[in-house]
Amino acid sequence: MLGAGIVGVSAAIAARQRGLSVVLVDRREPGSETSYGNAGILSSGSMLPLNKPSLWSALPAYMTNRHAALRWDPAWAIRNIDWLVRFLANGLKAWRSDAVGAAKEEQAFLAEYGIASQLLDRQAISALEPNIVPVYKVGLLHTQTASVDSPGAVVKAYARMFAGSGGEIRRCEIKAIVPDGEGWRVVLAGGGISARHVVVALGPWSADLLRPLGYRVPLAFERGYHREFRPNPARSLQRPIHDAEGSFIMTPMEQGIRVTSGVELTARDAPSSFAQLDQVVPAARSVVEFGEAVGEPWRGARPTLPDSLPMIGPAPRHSGLWLSFGHQHIGFTTGPATGVAIAAMITGSEPPFNAAPFSPGRYL
Ligand SMILES: Cc1cc2nc3c(=O)[nH]c(=O)nc-3n(C[C@H](O)[C@H](O)[C@H](O)COP(=O)(O)OP(=O)(O)OC[C@H]3O[C@@H](n4cnc5c(N)ncnc54)[C@H](O)[C@@H]3O)c2cc1C
Repeated sequence: MLGAGIVGVSAAIAARQRGLSVVLVDRREPGSETSYGNAGILSSGSMLPLNKPSLWSALPAYMTNRHAALRWDPAWAIRNIDWLVRFLANGLKAWRSDAVGAAKEEQAFLAEYGIASQLLDRQAISALEPNIVPVYKVGLLHTQTASVDSPGAVVKAYARMFAGSGGEIRRCEIKAIVPDGEGWRVVLAGGGISARHVVVALGPWSADLLRPLGYRVPLAFERGYHREFRPNPARSLQRPIHDAEGSFIMTPMEQGIRVTSGVELTARDAPSSFAQLDQVVPAARSVVEFGEAVGEPWRGARPTLPDSLPMIGPAPRHSGLWLSFGHQHIGFTTGPATGVAIAAMITGSEPPFNAAPFSPGRYL
């Protein structure tokens, strides 16, 4: 199992549960990258990707490159025009309405998929969140949503569960994956591992090791930032709040209030730009009282394919090679289900959901 983010750790546990002998490899401690820095929300209501239908109507505002929701690097956009065109082609409808209308439409949309939510007015919001400044007129409470106060600690706990069930964890840089007889040789910085099956669950780094095998994965990166702030215990936040117009999320975390910014479309490893974070932190502060920053700003990259669906399944031209990445904005929620599906496929069983839309063959 290559990669010990939420996806790899979940797949490792599921594979152990099916009786497979599993080695989980990562250069860092489990849950130290994208699966560490997210907003910690587990939501069945997070169904609309960035390239949702309304992206078209929002594009003129986003083109200015000053919006908190989306920043983009023009040079990157020209180099990746193919990805962008395919990404935008997934938006088919557009609507405009005031906030109540927008909230009602979102509620109706979620209801179509059996997802419950509750429309709130200012008073109802204050009843739920008595400590915030009453700036919000309309709210939509996603009643089937949960959150955790340390996503990285959750992944580490799952990794301990995996080790406790007889799995092996190796901390090492993975250099290459090479076909080797009936199976594979995973080349590590120190030595290597031979395996019948290899699962690539390397999050935003997944495409790198597949290129030498002839797979050009159209993976791009919706980068995002967070910063945490010391909370005022007397004015605490009870739950995550997604400020729809401000394009940020505030989540009460172990270390403090984590403010998470929108999307930055650029190269995975381009230098950080804190413009979006600088824009949203004062907006968050106008809602919740919090103190000075705890630690430095964090940057991560949501790995995204043009249709915003992950790849879950076999590599088309190699037996025993399994792809499990591209979980964009919702991987902390969906990673465990991906893990269960991949483990089922490896052992020749039906996954618990229809995995056809996630087939790697749609792009490779
Ligand atoms: C700002 C932000 C907010 C988010 N908020 C939410 C949210 O609220 N809810 C939600 O469900 N999702 C959220 N997400 C999305 C979610 O965090 C990701 O989809 C998910 O964490 C991806 O998990 P992963 O296991 O695929 O990748 P990762 O967690 O990045 O794991 C990949 C692992 O591969 C390892 N690796 C890579 N290359 C190598 C190599 N060569 N050798 C050894 N190891 C290697 C890395 O060290 C890393 O541990 C958010 C993302 C961001 C950026």
